[in-house]
Amino acid sequence: MIGIVIVSHSAKLAEAADQLARQMVGDTAPPVRLAAGAGTDPDGAAVLGTDATAVASAIDELAAEGADGVLVLMDLGSAVMSAELALELRASEVPVRLAAAPFVEGLLAATVAASAGAPLDAVAREAAGALGAKTAHLGEEGEADASPSATETPAAPEADALTRRFVLRNPLGLHARPASLLAGIAGSGDARVTVRRPPDGSPVSAASMTSLLALGAAGGAEVEFAVSGPDAESVLARIAELVDDGFGELDGADAAPAAGERAGEPSAPAAPVEPAASAFATSAPAAPADGLLHGRGVSGGRAAAPVARLAAPLAEPEPAPPLPEQQREAEAARIAPAAERVAEALRERAGRAAGEASAILEATALIALDPELASMAESSVSDRGLTADAAIWEAAAGYEQALAALGGRMAERAADLRDVRDRIRSELAGVELPGVPDRAEPFVLVARDLAPADTVTLAESACVALVTELGGPTSHTAIIARSLGLPAVVGVAGALGLDEGAVVLVDGDAGTIDAHPDAEAVAHAAERAEALAFDGRGATADGVTVPLLANVGGPDDASAAAAANAEGVGLFRTEFCFLDRRTAPTVDEQAEAYRGVLAPFAGRKVVVRTLDAGADKPLPFANDDDEENPALGVRGLRIARRNPALFDDQLAALARAASASDADAQVMAPMVATVEEARFFAERCRAAGLATVGVMIETPSAALLARELLEVVDFVSLGTNDLTQYTMAADRMVADLGELSDAWQPAVLRLIGAVGTAGRDAGKPVGVCGEAGGDPELAPVLVGLGATSLSMTPRALGAVAARLAAYTLDDCRRAAAAALAAGTAQEARAAAARELAEAASR
Ligand code: PEP
Ligand code: MG
Repeated sequence: MIGIVIVSHSAKLAEAADQLARQMVGDTAPPVRLAAGAGTDPDGAAVLGTDATAVASAIDELAAEGADGVLVLMDLGSAVMSAELALELRASEVPVRLAAAPFVEGLLAATVAASAGAPLDAVAREAAGALGAKTAHLGEEGEADASPSATETPAAPEADALTRRFVLRNPLGLHARPASLLAGIAGSGDARVTVRRPPDGSPVSAASMTSLLALGAAGGAEVEFAVSGPDAESVLARIAELVDDGFGELDGADAAPAAGERAGEPSAPAAPVEPAASAFATSAPAAPADGLLHGRGVSGGRAAAPVARLAAPLAEPEPAPPLPEQQREAEAARIAPAAERVAEALRERAGRAAGEASAILEATALIALDPELASMAESSVSDRGLTADAAIWEAAAGYEQALAALGGRMAERAADLRDVRDRIRSELAGVELPGVPDRAEPFVLVARDLAPADTVTLAESACVALVTELGGPTSHTAIIARSLGLPAVVGVAGALGLDEGAVVLVDGDAGTIDAHPDAEAVAHAAERAEALAFDGRGATADGVTVPLLANVGGPDDASAAAAANAEGVGLFRTEFCFLDRRTAPTVDEQAEAYRGVLAPFAGRKVVVRTLDAGADKPLPFANDDDEENPALGVRGLRIARRNPALFDDQLAALARAASASDADAQVMAPMVATVEEARFFAERCRAAGLATVGVMIETPSAALLARELLEVVDFVSLGTNDLTQYTMAADRMVADLGELSDAWQPAVLRLIGAVGTAGRDAGKPVGVCGEAGGDPELAPVLVGLGATSLSMTPRALGAVAARLAAYTLDDCRRAAAAALAAGTAQEARAAAARELAEAASR
C-alpha cells in the first residue's frame, strides 16, 4: 500500500482536501498523514506555514506502518521546499516521490489510485496528470505533464478482451465520484480494463481516474469497456452493475430498466448501440429523467427562448431535363414575385434594424429587385427550360463572375449577391433561408455546428443562446458566443432532436439544456438576464472607473445605446449614415445626422469618427478608385488628405451639430499611420472649432508611434479590428483566417500594451473601440494593458461590466502581464484565465 503525506500551509486546507479525497474511496482510503500549518500563536490561532521536520516525521510514520512507498503532495511555495528538505531529514528508507501535481486534483487522483493498490510510480503519475481532465474540459493546453496523455498512453485492449458498451444513465456521467468508483473496480482483481468513447475514441486505462475524467463522458454518452485477465468476467459484471445503477445517482424515475447497457461478445467488435437502447444514442431529444441535455458550457449565462434550428445550406441545383414548353411560362412567372417577397422581407428587417444593419439590408433589397437578374433568369426558363431555381442560380453566377472581373470593391459585393440568390431560391422552394434564422422574437439557435459565416450574422440576430451538437471550447462557435455574451453549450448529444419552437432553458455555466423548463425557471432566467443589463457605470472591483461606451452607426443606434445605459459613444462610424449615397451628403444633411447621434447623450462623451471609407465600407463619393488592395489603399484619413473639401465639409457639419448640442462631442481620425497625418488632422479639426481631437490606433505603425501621436492629439482609440488585420496580415473579411484575426494574438496584445503604456505616461485616455472592447473575456486584459474606456455593441455592455466588476485593477494588470508573456493566442487566453481564476478565488 502506498501512503500519502499532505503538506499544506494551512491545517484546515489539508484536512478539507483529505476529507474530499476520502469521500471518493470510502473505507479503502490509503494511509494519509497531514503535515500542515506551523503550529499556533500565543493566542491559540493557527499560524500558516510548513515545517520540514513534520513532513519527515509523517513519512517515517507511514514507513513504520508498512507503506511500500510514500507520495508527498504539497500546496505551494515553501511547502515544496519543506518537502524537499524532509527527504534529507527523514530516518526511514521507504521510497518517496514528491508530486509535481495540482494540490486538490492530484490528491484525489492519488488517493483513488493508491486505494486501488497501484504502485508508487503509477500513483505519482495519476497525481501528475490530474489536471488533464480540467484542462481538456476547459480547452486550455496543460502545462508540462498536465495532459492525460502524458500520464496515460492509450492502450489497445487485449485480443481476448470482453467488450461491452454502455450508455451512462446518471445525468452527470463520469464526473469525479463515478470515475473514482470505476477506477477502484478496474484497479481491483486480476484484470486489465480499458475504456474508450465509441466510435473512434482511443482506449485508456480505466484504473486511471484522470483518464476516465478526461474522456469527458457526460450523461447519455456511450462508453465501451474491454476487460481481460483471469478476473475479467467478475470485474466486467461489477462495472455493469455500477453503470446500470447510474453510480448510485439515479432517483425515482431515473431508475427505470437498465436501458443504458448493451453487451458485446468476447473479442468480437462491440456492436453499435441500437437507437432503442438509449434515449441518447440518436438525435431524438435526449430525455433523462432530470429533463436535461448535457454538453460543454463554453459561454456563461442562462437564457430561455424557443428553439430555432440553423437551416441547412441549399445545395447546387441538380442538372435536370428541360421543362416541357407548356410549363415554362408559369415557371418563369414565379421568379419576379419571389424576388419581390425577398426584397420586401429585407426592407421590413431594415425598418426594424438601425444604422449599419439597416443600410446594408436596404442595399441588399435593391439587389433582389434588380430587374436584370430576374429577366436573365426568366429568359433561361423560357428559352432553355431551366427550373426557376436553376435559372436564378445561373443568373447569379453570371453576375458574380462579372463582379469578380471588376475586382476590388465590386468583387466584394459578390457575397451580397449570393445571399440574395439563396434567399430567392429558398422563397421559390418554400423552405427556411439557410443560416441563422431571421426572427423578430428571441430564439435559441440549435445547430449541428456553426460555420464562421453563420456566426457573423449572429450579432444582429435575436438569438439569445447557442446549442450545438459538435464543437469544443476553442471552436469559433465558442469564441463568438463569448464575444457576444451569449450563453452557449457545445457538444450536446441529441441537440438536433429538440423540437423547433419549443421553449428551452440554456445554462452556459452548467453546460445543460432544460428541454422542459417550468415557468418559474424561465422567469428566473429572464431575471438573471435582466441582472446582466448594464446599470450605466463601468468599474473594476476596487472602484476604478472604466467608462463603457457604445459603438453606433447613426441616430437610431444612438437612441438604442442610450436606452441600454451606455455611458457615451466611443465610436460613431459616420460613414454608416451614407453607405447608400452615390454623391456626397451636404453639410446640412450631415449636421442633421450628427445632431441625431449627439442628442441622446447630453452631458456625455460622443466620439465621432470622420469618414472611414474604403475596403469593407465603400463610399462611391469618397473613393471610387479601382484599387488592387483596397484595405491598403486610399481609405480613412488618406481620403481626407486627397479630398480636403469633403473632409472640411464634414468637420463643419460636426462643429455645427456639436455647438447645438450639450454632448461632449470629440472627433477622431481613422486609419492613421504617421505623426504628420495626426498633425494634419488635429490642426484642421481645431481650426474648425472642434476642441478634443484623437486618432484611432489601427495600424502597427500608429501603435508603435503612440507616444509621439499623443504629443499631437488629446486621446487615442484602439481599433482592434484593423489593428489585428494589419498586424497579422489577415484580411478581416476572410472567415478562414479566424485564428489569425484574433485580438488575443500576442503580437496584437503587445501593441495594445505599448499604446496603453504611452497613454499612461502621457496621462491621456486610451479607448478601445474594436470588437475586442466588447469581449467580456478580453475586457480585464485590455484594462490591465492600459485601456481607460471600452466601446462596444450595446448588447455586450452588461456582460463586460459584470466581468470588470469582478476584478481589481491589479488583477487586470496581472492577467494582462500573463497574456503578454504568452507565445500564442491560446496560451494568452489560458494564462489570463488562470490569473483571473486565481484572483477570483482570493
Ligand atoms: C476597428 O478597426 O477596430 C474599428 C473600430 O473600425 P472599423 O471596424 O469601423 O474598421
Ligand atoms: Mg477600422
